[in-house]
Amino acid sequence: MVKEVGLGLIIAVVTFLVICGYDLTPLIFLGVLGVGAYFIVRTRGLMTKNFSEQRISPQHEISFADIGGQAGAIRELQEALNFIKNNQAILHLGIRPLKGILLTGPPGTGKTLLAKAAAGFTDAVFISCSGSEFIEMYAGVGAQRVRRLFQAAREATLKQGKNNALIFIDEIDILAGKRGQTSNHLEYDQTLNQLLVEMDGIKVNDKVRILVVAATNRMDLLDPAILRPGRFDRHVKVELPDKQGRLEILKLHTQNKPLADSVSLEEIAKDTFGFSGAHLESLANEAAILAMRENCEVVEQHHFREAIDKVMMGDRLDRHPSPAELRRVSIHETGHAFLSELVRPGSVSTLTIAPRGMALGYMRQTSEDNTYLYTMEYLENQIAVMLAGALAEELFLGDHSTGAVNDFEQAAGLAEQIIGAGMSRLKVVDTKTLPAGLRYRVITEILHGQEKRVKEHLSRAYDTMEIIVNLLLEHEKINGEQLRSYLRRETCFV
Ligand code: ADP
Repeated sequence: MVKEVGLGLIIAVVTFLVICGYDLTPLIFLGVLGVGAYFIVRTRGLMTKNFSEQRISPQHEISFADIGGQAGAIRELQEALNFIKNNQAILHLGIRPLKGILLTGPPGTGKTLLAKAAAGFTDAVFISCSGSEFIEMYAGVGAQRVRRLFQAAREATLKQGKNNALIFIDEIDILAGKRGQTSNHLEYDQTLNQLLVEMDGIKVNDKVRILVVAATNRMDLLDPAILRPGRFDRHVKVELPDKQGRLEILKLHTQNKPLADSVSLEEIAKDTFGFSGAHLESLANEAAILAMRENCEVVEQHHFREAIDKVMMGDRLDRHPSPAELRRVSIHETGHAFLSELVRPGSVSTLTIAPRGMALGYMRQTSEDNTYLYTMEYLENQIAVMLAGALAEELFLGDHSTGAVNDFEQAAGLAEQIIGAGMSRLKVVDTKTLPAGLRYRVITEILHGQEKRVKEHLSRAYDTMEIIVNLLLEHEKINGEQLRSYLRRETCFV
């Protein structure tokens, strides 16, 4: 705002002076000088961005024992690090030093923790930064920062009387994307080149031995030059934790929390398929906050259950749908849950009509760990579960609502998967050259087939569903166990 007013004033004064017949040449000269000086100062400021303060942490609070569910990654990393620790043998045998380790995997899985633990393991000074910090619109600034980073690492290590430094670069894909692909490619390329130069300069007998650990979740974006032997030639995969891994992480993050005897972390681990370490940390924290809100001395199982919903779906909303809308949501979610139990008994984890995040209600299924391949039967069953919400609404209320849009998208996505996997009536096809009309017809056939099946199941179970709908309206939330016991009581449900 101030800028705009200032500019307006300058233009007004200049116009006035021109009208009055003044010669403005000296003024223009001074203006150009001023603008030039401003940009020089600004660019220098950007270049000398300091890496030597808060990014350098000499104390190693994190060790490998604080990282759960990553036994494989820790083993691989330790193997590489042992190699660094054994410097004398490396010198003796003339082995070139290990310069870079690349950690790849989804966000929140513990890559930063692993790098910190690696620094502790090798008694190295830890310096962290992110790929985005090197990117500026001015050519040369990023390269200068890379130089400063390595220099700061050497200086800090000498100052602390150590021999090793570990530079951790998060989001390396921003700094080391394939060269020549960005609009501002000169700047990006120079920055990456400088990183390569610095890494190539690392020698086994350097006074300060530097190891660069980088993290990314988009390895496909990296320039091949960075993955060449002698640069980031060790790749460690950091995956989402499996059930056992989730249990380990939950144990770590509940160590400092008083838990009720009834708490089963195994059950929470089973219910949190797809959660990263960061999700689980947040889950444990949220559960403790809920316990505090209820003035409980200890954290109980229901706090954890509620926290799972919060981490997955977002905060509870202060929305108050009308009774008619609540009934519709209850019918919709009961439809999903009923079909889910029918096609995969024991699969419903939670059923609720409390609005949270973007959803007015939801049904959560437990997922099966260690399942990486899906059969036709599984995919068709999932489509049936997706469609059951809207079809239950039609059965009870005569029409369905916009609440089903997301379900239909997911169902159509699964039908596409069936075609892509050669499981449809088209058998094996190249989906890229498949005519759109044909694709549409086959997807519709798959969806209609499941629609017919779901309608039959639901209409046969009208009375049972009515009971569940009312129970859900009364309790707002039912967990899987409760649902199954109602179903067993009310029907010949197996
Ligand atoms: P990334 O670098 O992979 O994005 P971080 O290492 O920054 O993830 O993890 C963020 C937070 O999540 C950590 O501070 C920790 O509290 C928790 N966390 C993530 N992974 C793990 C794990 N494997 N074990 C224990 N805690 C974890």
